[in-house]
Order: sequence, then structure tokens, then C-alpha cells
Amino acid sequence: MSADLGRDEQEIYRVAVEASPSPTLVADANGIIALANREAERLFGWAPGTMAGHPIEALLPDDIRTPHIANRERFAADPVGRPMGQQRDLRAQRRDGTVFPVEVGLNPVTTSRGRYVICAVVDLTERKLAEQRLAEQASMLEQANRKLTELATTDSLTSLWNRRAFLEQLDIRLEQSVRSARPMSVLILDVDHFKPYNDQYGHLAGDEVLRAAARLLRRRARRSDFLGRIGGEEFGVILDEADRVGAVRVAEHLRQAVEVAQWPRRSITVSIGAATVQFPNAVPRPESPPRSQLLSLADQALYYSKEHGRNRVTHVADVSAPH
Ligand code: GH3
Ligand code: MG
Ligand code: MG
Repeated sequence: MSADLGRDEQEIYRVAVEASPSPTLVADANGIIALANREAERLFGWAPGTMAGHPIEALLPDDIRTPHIANRERFAADPVGRPMGQQRDLRAQRRDGTVFPVEVGLNPVTTSRGRYVICAVVDLTERKLAEQRLAEQASMLEQANRKLTELATTDSLTSLWNRRAFLEQLDIRLEQSVRSARPMSVLILDVDHFKPYNDQYGHLAGDEVLRAAARLLRRRARRSDFLGRIGGEEFGVILDEADRVGAVRVAEHLRQAVEVAQWPRRSITVSIGAATVQFPNAVPRPESPPRSQLLSLADQALYYSKEHGRNRVTHVADVSAPH
């Protein structure tokens, strides 16, 4: 717009701004509101025709008034246009004191009577609410997903890892063991004569024993040991860095802990089978042995414990090969 705009054109622009559905203000070089259209007064909750003459800071919440004065003075010294979308999280204040999010575009204009700034204001209340709703939905979804993952990997009776999670973890740790050429062992624990326990005291009493056994094992195992319920009355333990001797020591410790614990109806014991892998050299591209092989070795050892009186620990390396 040129400064020598004809009177008619000036009138057209005035009416156009006045009738515009966008809240628009004009402030002078001192930050005093020179013009405010109807939409601006409506948005800020001012009675028609009452906004002009007030400082622009009257439209801001208390905490940003003072910094805004400094910003305005800096802008007046070097007025450059600031299109929409350049400043995030601006807040404005209505006449009644309520605060709401806005975006403001600034256009400096020089006239024969000095400099002015045209401020176009966009109310972001709806957009922020929508964003907030979306964020809330996203966080609820994330929570639901986490819960699902937990359900998919946790045994509901004992809260130990379930069989699926245990097998996955065994794969991961086997691979690490190959890469680092460090030993690792796995234990399978099976409650002895558990069927008669259920038959005599009922399934619920049996469940309570499984829960208590899980708590006891978790308390007695090391932090790094990975514990899962891998079958009805069977538990699995992955022992990182444990060689044959270490595995038998941990297994014996767990076996004794179960044996000496106070049980509500009759004593409870477990039989344990152990197996160890140890790779001689670190290999760059690990070819891990299938976990099923390791589990089946631990199972053989468990079977040996069962066959030889139960309530005992056997390492598969101590099972003589069948003739
Ligand atoms: P063994 O010493 O040879 O292991 O004898 P056992 O009786 O423990 O073995 P068996 O495999 O014959 O029976 C396992 C029993 O474990 C069968 C079932 O009554 C019980 N059981 C399996 N899962 C659960 C469970 O989730 N809750 C309860 N209460 N009992 C279970
Ligand atoms: Mg069993
Ligand atoms: Mg059993």
C-alpha cells in the first residue's frame, strides 16, 4: 500500500479489515493500539470500540508483559515482518483474565504519520485442544501396548517370564555367549511329586505352592539370572557367565532353599537338571547352537535327577552316556 493512497481506497481497506473474519490489530510505534477490528475485540472479550488507546500489553498475561515491552522496542528499532508460524507457544489474555494460546503475524508499515504494526491474531485454542487430545490418545495407546507386551511375556500365575519370553531370552544370551566366548548355563527345575500334592490338597493349594516357589527362586537367584516358568510345575533359569561348576553351585543353592523353606502343608522339593555351553574362541559371526539342544541336555540331566531319588541336582556332563 502506498502512503498516497486515495481516500476511497483507504476507506475500502478500513472496511475490509473491519469486516475481516480474522482478528486484526494495528499498534503504533509506542505499542498503543490504534485500530482493532470487531473480531479482535470479540476474541479478546472487549466491548466494541473500547480497545483502541490501550497498550498492546493489555492483551497479554502478566508474566510476559515486561519481556514483551523489551521485544517490542527491539522490533521498533528494526521492524521486519514476521509471518505466521514463526513463534510457538504464545499466550494472550482476554479482558476477563483468562489466558489462551495464539499465533501472531506482524507486518510493519510506514505511513506519513509514523510507523505502525499490523498484527494478525489466530486463536489456537481448538488446535491445542486437538493436539492435547491426540497426545493423550497416543499415550493411552502406548500404555495399552506396554500392557499387551507385558501380558505376552509374563506368566500370570507367578509373574515370572513365560515360556515364550524365556526361549527368546535364551536365544539372545546364547548368541552373546558365542560372541564373547564366555560360558553360560541353563537350569530346569521341576517340582517333585506335584501331581499327588494337587490331588490331595486341590489345585488352588497347588497354585499357591507354585507362586511361593517363584517368589523364593527370584529372591535367591542373582540379579542377572533370567527366571521363567516354562511348564506347569517347571521353572527355567538362565545363568550368564556360569560354567559347569558355577551352574551346579547355583542349582544346589536353589534346591536347598526350596527344601528348607516353610511350606504350608507338606515339604516341597525340586529336582534340577543343568547344562552348560562354552565356546572356545570368540567368533565374529555367531553360529549359536540351537537352544533346543541346550534345553534337551538340561532335560536329560533333570530326568537323571528324577530317576535317582529326586530332590537333587545333576549336570548333564555327569550323566554317563547310555550304553
Ligand atoms: P515328578 O516328581 O516326576 O515331577 O512328579 P509330578 O507329579 O510332579 O509330575 P507329573 O508330570 O506327573 O505331574 C505334574 C503335575 O503338576 C500335574 C499337575 O497336577 C501339576 N500342575 C501342572 N501345572 C499346574 C498348575 O498350573 N497349577 C497346579 N496347581 N498344578 C499344576
Ligand atoms: Mg514336570
Ligand atoms: Mg514334577
